[in-house]
Amino acid sequence: MPQLSYNLKAPAPLLEDFPADIRPWLIPDYTGDVVYECIECGSCYRIDQFLYTCPQCRSLLRLRNRDFASLKKIPGELWQKIFDYRKLLRTESLQGIFLFKEILFPTIPLQDIIYLGEGHTALVRANPELSARAGLDFFIKNDGFNPSASFKDRGMASAISFINYSIRTRGLKEVLGICASTGDTSAAAALYLSYLDKQVVKSVVLLPQGRVTPQQLSQPLGSGALVIEIPGVFDDCMKIVEELAENYQVCLLNSKNPVRIMGQKSYAYEIAQQLCYNTRDLVVVVPIGNAGNVTAIMEGFLDLYDLNIIPELPCILGVQSTHANPVVQWQESGRYQPMKVQPSVAQAAMIGDPVSFPKVRNLVRDHFQERLMAVAVEEQQIIESMLEANRYGHVVCTQGGEALAGLKKAVSLGLVNKSQTVVVDSTSHQLKFSNFQQLYFDNAYPPAYEITPRQQYINKPVVLDACAEGIAQFLKLKKK
Ligand SMILES: *Cc1c(COP(=O)(O)O)cnc(C)c1O
Ligand SMILES: [Zn+2]
Repeated sequence: MPQLSYNLKAPAPLLEDFPADIRPWLIPDYTGDVVYECIECGSCYRIDQFLYTCPQCRSLLRLRNRDFASLKKIPGELWQKIFDYRKLLRTESLQGIFLFKEILFPTIPLQDIIYLGEGHTALVRANPELSARAGLDFFIKNDGFNPSASFKDRGMASAISFINYSIRTRGLKEVLGICASTGDTSAAAALYLSYLDKQVVKSVVLLPQGRVTPQQLSQPLGSGALVIEIPGVFDDCMKIVEELAENYQVCLLNSKNPVRIMGQKSYAYEIAQQLCYNTRDLVVVVPIGNAGNVTAIMEGFLDLYDLNIIPELPCILGVQSTHANPVVQWQESGRYQPMKVQPSVAQAAMIGDPVSFPKVRNLVRDHFQERLMAVAVEEQQIIESMLEANRYGHVVCTQGGEALAGLKKAVSLGLVNKSQTVVVDSTSHQLKFSNFQQLYFDNAYPPAYEITPRQQYINKPVVLDACAEGIAQFLKLKKK
């Protein structure tokens, strides 16, 4: 029986304190029957191995609980109560994304779950003046409030918990976790891997040299990972780790690893919970890079819909920079074509051949149809939307700026309207991308960014003498 409380000396909530219909489900012991399933040929494989592509046809894998239908014996409204009451527990392993364990990834026993503070990020009402400028009311979900300051921690918590579980149950003696990254995957991977047994687990990240921010580079270095920089862009790094994962014994921690997607579904579950499970007329706005996040969000809402926990699937508005917009081009032309990217301030989403694209295509074909919309925005709009949001009390990163710029564009195109509830995903913390703010303030963008700073958004420190009177004069203060 897992502990109901962190602190054994303090009185824990007692099971008897909870309503009788909740009690049997409060502490999840359901494990389901989870297998890897190929998204194209449908072959299934046991999960007592690390797999990233189908051994038969090389397509992407997803994780499927073949026993999912049995969860339907609990009515949707009871599931809502279970998840809500579970928030009252002080059980460490259920504090984060595994609050939703049965639908997130039921296999992993509570004892193997690694919780570093991820998930349950704030849903903040956008400042009224900012809303007026956008043309409608909206909320910002601040996924920068995760431990390594991006949403990537959600998927890393499930992937690393799975590794932890695999080490214990399979007796693994050596695990090398590896990922390619536009900055945030490596920060999250290095953080979570560093929590595991160093006798067993090693951590390596591959970065495109000069294409992650200084803060993002400092994160895996600080967590003690081996950081390898190579020339090129993210897509080049990704090809290398894919080759390594196919041919060598490594554990791939990119979102191609379907276990990552399982954890990232929690973003959808949380939005539903924060909105009291009323998803009617909901629009979720999300930047798209490698397309793992948008895949997970769609899969997460599908789980909830299948179990009658929500009444309706939301619309998803995917946003990309015109400098890296293969998904938008596919939406517009019906044809998918990988592209060569140009520099983008939304650097974490600067990807020309999104690995999870086939999953997006299948989810749209089978479930979301016109509920997935996609728009492209200019670099100038991305950076200025970020600067604008942060001047109104928010802490939005460049990808959040990208999402907000996409919302404005969708409003102007009539794709989104005032009768809808809108949630904008700020996928990481403002501070991770402050170098792009600085380039703007210094009017120092290389031409390829196509950004011309405007005075109204520029802000710089003023240097004055250490003298109260001088400062008072500068501020034109009135004497008391
Ligand atoms: C990774 C990342 C993205 C892109 O997400 P995908 O799952 O690759 O589409 C967007 N914003 C931030 C901050 C990221 O780290
Ligand atoms: Zn297959």
